[in-house]
Amino acid sequence: MDKKCIVCGHPYPEEHHVVYRSQQSAMINCPHNKIPLCYEHHRGNKSPHMDRNLDVKYKREFQERLEYLFSIKECYLEGEVQAILMIQKKDVRKIVKTLCVVIMGDDVGYKREDIIKQAMGGRLYG
Ligand SMILES: [Zn+2]
Ligand SMILES: [Zn+2]
Repeated sequence: MDKKCIVCGHPYPEEHHVVYRSQQSAMINCPHNKIPLCYEHHRGNKSPHMDRNLDVKYKREFQERLEYLFSIKECYLEGEVQAILMIQKKDVRKIVKTLCVVIMGDDVGYKREDIIKQAMGGRLYG
């Protein structure tokens, strides 16, 4: 990653997945789900892996980002979800396969809230 730590500007950050692999494996390659953090801000005492409040803060910010990304309409086709999240087809399948479908013309789509909740690992952060 050619970015800097978002907390201190350290030039060689690690890549933090806001929603962990264990929470939603389909989101592991979603660029929106990655933030650059230096070792200290990634793994130290004041990091999302050690401080629950920070973990939730980053998750809330990510959820807001998803709400923005999916704010254009109520329902989305699978291909649209894939394009917005910038993930592979097999990963978008993992996200939508358990969701209720909504008829969209000749196709089926999925509700914004359901997509976001599933992308967040099955729960929302209020
Ligand atoms: Zn840092
Ligand atoms: Zn991490």
